[in-house]
Amino acid sequence: MWTLLLVACSSPEPAPPRHEARRHVLFVVVDTLRADAIARADTPVLDGLGARGEIVPTAWASGTWTVPSMISMFTGMPVRQHGWNREPGNVEQFPKIPPAPTLAEVLARKGFHTTALYANDFLDPDLGFSRGFETYRKSIDSQMPDRVASAVREWDDGERHFLYVHLLGPHSPLKPSEASREKHAVDPAWIAGNPLGFLIGQAKRNQEPGVRDAYAAAYHAVVEDTDARLGAILDALGPHRDDTLVIVTSDHGELLGEHGICGHGWWVWEELTHVPLVVDGAVDLPDRVSLASIPAIVTRSLNLEHEWPTPWDATLLVSQRRDKLAISVDGKTKAIWSDDGVQAFDLPADRGEAKPLPVSADLVAARERFEADVPPGTYSDEEVRLHDTTLESLKALGYLDGAE
Ligand SMILES: [Zn+2]
Repeated sequence: MWTLLLVACSSPEPAPPRHEARRHVLFVVVDTLRADAIARADTPVLDGLGARGEIVPTAWASGTWTVPSMISMFTGMPVRQHGWNREPGNVEQFPKIPPAPTLAEVLARKGFHTTALYANDFLDPDLGFSRGFETYRKSIDSQMPDRVASAVREWDDGERHFLYVHLLGPHSPLKPSEASREKHAVDPAWIAGNPLGFLIGQAKRNQEPGVRDAYAAAYHAVVEDTDARLGAILDALGPHRDDTLVIVTSDHGELLGEHGICGHGWWVWEELTHVPLVVDGAVDLPDRVSLASIPAIVTRSLNLEHEWPTPWDATLLVSQRRDKLAISVDGKTKAIWSDDGVQAFDLPADRGEAKPLPVSADLVAARERFEADVPPGTYSDEEVRLHDTTLESLKALGYLDGAE
């Protein structure tokens, strides 16, 4: 015992080889993009990015709607730790995001110029999402490549830049391009009914024959349009492309009729928790990643020192929504705890999570360890009312209708 200890003390682990850090960072979140969509749809840009870098086989979003999930990606804290576990629901005001350091704040302190271009209204600057960003600008998906190009034109020699682009992508309402709509055989009548596009509320109600299949087809059509848009965003980096760490992921997935549900409210099924994670220029990543690791993955890949609550090489998968807590140790067996009890699933044998099994001692122990290591947080009492314009566009997106 003593001998072993002495050997361990006199021969410390060799430091890991220093990663060759890139100069800039492009962090793209495609809202509502489930992991299997990039296998079902043609996504040559994401495939090419993964061929240059890495596609992480199993990445889990920490929450299954935008605000709690993005707080985890900004602060490195799982939902339990940041405590912001509210629902979009029929409310117009929310607590601010927790005061913990965000990725943008840390990078700004390290000398980066920071720019955010976001399309999802829930990323309201008044909630605190703009903290650390020099420029925080609402945009729409179709304008993003031009906005990125004009931001990049301002970059001067010697500067370092962090650019966060949040696309709505295949979030409802869906309005695929004519070419992808035709390719996926989506009847234009589904889209013509609303000037914004095909609303998930139609598929949720499921009162019209074929509506869910049509919505799923339109979803994959928009995934292909978004992939092309991502290609234009990467091209907009111009001469900085090869010197930019690129990370593409999503804040949560979408149910397209599985479990009899459409949308992303209230559950932690794989269609919601499992999202793509494609990186180019990052440190080598484990084959399963919790997205609360994103800030640590960025700073580790840039060789910057910062202690985040979740380290870059953490492999415990955790996702939380309301009373539901999903945990997986290996990406294969998963347990979901809720007010109704606990169920476990063998994912390789039961992708649809339809055959619940008794929970294993390993998963129970993993939950106990997680809860012992991660103190529960509470969000701030300070609530802010969203802007009127934000509320209007959220209503148009199908929120604030009491349904989700
Ligand atoms: Zn979202």
